[in-house]
Amino acid sequence: MAVYRILEEHEPSLREKAKPVPKITPNVLKLLDNLAETMYSAGGVGLAAPQIGVPKRVFVADIGDQLYELINPVFLRLSEEAASENEGCLSVPEKYGLVTRPLSVVLEGQNRLGETVTIATEGYLARVFQHESDHLNGILFTDIADAVYLRDYEDDDEDNEDEDDDDMSGGADMPGDIGEDRL
Ligand SMILES: [Zn+2]
Repeated sequence: MAVYRILEEHEPSLREKAKPVPKITPNVLKLLDNLAETMYSAGGVGLAAPQIGVPKRVFVADIGDQLYELINPVFLRLSEEAASENEGCLSVPEKYGLVTRPLSVVLEGQNRLGETVTIATEGYLARVFQHESDHLNGILFTDIADAVYLRDYEDDDEDNEDEDDDDMSGGADMPGDIGEDRL
């Protein structure tokens, strides 16, 4: 396993549409391992292959409950009900922004064994899945955000945002301020 450099906003590779994975080879398994190690090393909660310069439809996510590894993920359902929350991104470290997304999703993909997995979820994990899927299509949250803000690191000590209210129902794992997390 290895920790990779995470590409940043201005790098063109982030804008490419990633290609489906036709077959789960040892290289794909290595990619999953490297994505997870890089995500954990960076303190992120999600990471898509294009973010480490690999244009394949693969991402990992872990919001604290378990590691999700998805190959060729597609949404079978996106709810009409939407929520607006702050998001950050490992590839856009200086910014965060308010993004409106469907509240609940059904995602289908393959796991590392090549088995089809279907995950129905809502709240924070549903948002992370959508953010990572956007990366597979060359989309960054800054493209679709209602508002984008610069992070003010100097104020971090003064702001206690841990108790921020959020209006997402069912998001038991949702931290106080999603803008603090990077995906
Ligand atoms: Zn991201």
